[in-house]
Amino acid sequence: MLRQLRETMAEPLASQERLDKIVNVIAENMRADVCSFYVLRDDGALELFATKGLDREAVHMTTLRLGEGLVGLIAAEAEPLSLENAPSHPGFAYRPETGEERYNAFLGVPVLRAGQTLGVLVVQNAERRHFGEDETEALLTTATILAEMIATSDFDNLIKPGSDIDLRRPRMFTGVSLTDGIALGTVVLHDPRVVVTNFIAEDVEQEKLRLDAALEKMRVGIDAMLDHGDMQSSTDHREILETYRMFAHDRGWVHRLTEAIENGLTAEAAVERVQNDTRARMLRQTDPYIRERLHDLDDLANRLLRMLTGDHQGIGRNLPDNAVIVARNMGPAELLEYDRTKLRGVVLEEGGTTSHVAIVARSLGLVAVGQADSIVSICETGDDIIVDGPAGTVHIRPTPDVEQTYIDKVRISARRRAHYAALKDKPSVTRDGVDITLLHNSGLVADLPMLEDTGAAGVGLFRTELQFMIASRLPRLAEQIDLYAEAMRLAGDRPIVFRLLDIGGDKVVPYLRSMAEENPAMGYRSIRLGLDRPGLLRTQVRALLMAARGRPLKILVPMVTETFEFQQTKLVIRREVERLKRSGDPVPVELEIGAMVEVPSLLFELDQLLPEADFVSIGSNDLVQFLTAADRANPRVSASYDPIALPRLRAIKLVVDAARRYGLPITMCGELAGRPTEALALMAIGMNRLSMGPASIGPIKELILNLELEPIKRSVAAAMSDGAESVTIRELLKDWIDRQNLPV
Ligand code: PEP
Ligand code: MG
Repeated sequence: MLRQLRETMAEPLASQERLDKIVNVIAENMRADVCSFYVLRDDGALELFATKGLDREAVHMTTLRLGEGLVGLIAAEAEPLSLENAPSHPGFAYRPETGEERYNAFLGVPVLRAGQTLGVLVVQNAERRHFGEDETEALLTTATILAEMIATSDFDNLIKPGSDIDLRRPRMFTGVSLTDGIALGTVVLHDPRVVVTNFIAEDVEQEKLRLDAALEKMRVGIDAMLDHGDMQSSTDHREILETYRMFAHDRGWVHRLTEAIENGLTAEAAVERVQNDTRARMLRQTDPYIRERLHDLDDLANRLLRMLTGDHQGIGRNLPDNAVIVARNMGPAELLEYDRTKLRGVVLEEGGTTSHVAIVARSLGLVAVGQADSIVSICETGDDIIVDGPAGTVHIRPTPDVEQTYIDKVRISARRRAHYAALKDKPSVTRDGVDITLLHNSGLVADLPMLEDTGAAGVGLFRTELQFMIASRLPRLAEQIDLYAEAMRLAGDRPIVFRLLDIGGDKVVPYLRSMAEENPAMGYRSIRLGLDRPGLLRTQVRALLMAARGRPLKILVPMVTETFEFQQTKLVIRREVERLKRSGDPVPVELEIGAMVEVPSLLFELDQLLPEADFVSIGSNDLVQFLTAADRANPRVSASYDPIALPRLRAIKLVVDAARRYGLPITMCGELAGRPTEALALMAIGMNRLSMGPASIGPIKELILNLELEPIKRSVAAAMSDGAESVTIRELLKDWIDRQNLPV
């Protein structure tokens, strides 16, 4: 059948004629009474484009909506469907003009290209028969070829009607912010798609050998990248490449590739075919983490395609200076292949904040924006582009005034950065002599060298779960030890507070999937999970203790709801210490265990909790979300409640005052601490330790250096006292900031 199809493709025929012939060839070879081909139009309708067996009058007349009828179902689900008695299927939609009711047996497959459904290919028989797996495979293989034909033929205008809008006009896209910074540069379309032109195998054995050789070459390439000098320095990059290596050796994947070749495809067409299925599945996944994982596989398939077709266009090509890579999506390894000295930014149509590529972009210091919908089809390599990281916006072919605005912005922010950098060695003390300790919130080993740049006193919160989120499987004990030891080494003499795993809620770890929960933020997460699965907790505690090896260690327990949970966790930690001592291993010279206050109930149990703790940390992100019953990830509700309004500030002050009574150090490690007005509120109620994202240290330090704390402390205290005139704390602070001309 494939040979006949190839001949048909080579014949000098008009597109419709060719399609008619193709459906005939398929029907004949599959001993089917009917073979029909439906094309998905861009209005979402599936149009009958060619048929052998159904009424020819229906061609270009009959349409089905996506999801409607069996054909619509296949297109929507991107999955094959085989039925012995189609009319009895609840999804069957009868179209009288086709004369379809005579046919019982039905096999339909999606026609996929680049993971998108282009159409549906169907064979039918009057008799009841069962189309088996082999036939499904054969039809899928045929569909791969048909997809290529549709995409490159003059039917194109039906799928994407030409429009008369000026495609080259300036355009702005709003996506999501993946990093800080602004990049002005030149578009380089990543276009990882390799065009396969040779679909049908001449010699199956030969194709298998080609596949094997390409796989081997790719594996060697990945190993070489893993051994590459500068890769060693970043645990995050290593993690990702390890995942690639795992995929490259995956037997299931290799088996599916081989099977496609055995069905008559060339090695590259086989890769394309398997990749199409993968992409289709990827696009249907709603779990963003899994989508990212499958994307790694997609990336790998592209490398393989390039090996097989000799198309190395995408790699190491000459980049312009200030290149901004624009892609539908890309794997982290693809990003790493570009010349880093010329890269300024990345813009993706997909790409969530937790995607690997976003994490890598951040650690390479690139400006990145994700979810810039349809941007790839709107720009071309060589176009001017501006990427505004914090705003999550992208300007393509910007007008001169937009460009000038950004040139000014870049100049100002460079000046500001230089100014902040000059503050790094100044002690962080207010004008009236109050010491304020500034600390980093951090989560990846790659962030830690920034301590040098900001001059922060240490890490107030190391979110250990981030490493778990980017790993492909549960990090083993030895891996965790290495990681924590590396973090301590990079922090040097500065203290670092390791928070125990805070998995759950929005922090998805795919290999630890638990049941779907209606309210995951209030669900099975964090220390609740840790105490329920003590193996996980014990391993992490052991790794931390072993990594500390004779150094001091600080452990922070997240999401404590009752004192009892804190005590339980301490017990687990103490047991691990005893265990190490017994086996003669070194233990930390000093061990401090702190509790996070982020569940409101704890506010009313401070006298039980605090005597148990060595230090406390307030997680304002969660505390405020629970106090106000407003989802922190949903700006429609969370933005409505001022986190430093009286009730919230009173709650925070309750903890600050209690910590002082018990003589415990207290740190604020939620986002509040990094925002100047909010930080001022915190200092005004006596909070002297603030932990924040590294980018906030400069602005907050500048505020502190200009601040006289005592007077604002008094005003805030008066405003918070019972019977005070009603004034919002924010108004009061703003007024003070203005009057004192503070740098906020
Ligand atoms: C918080 O809740 O404020 C906090 C610091 O923890 P996370 O943001 O990681 O939940
Ligand atoms: Mg929290």
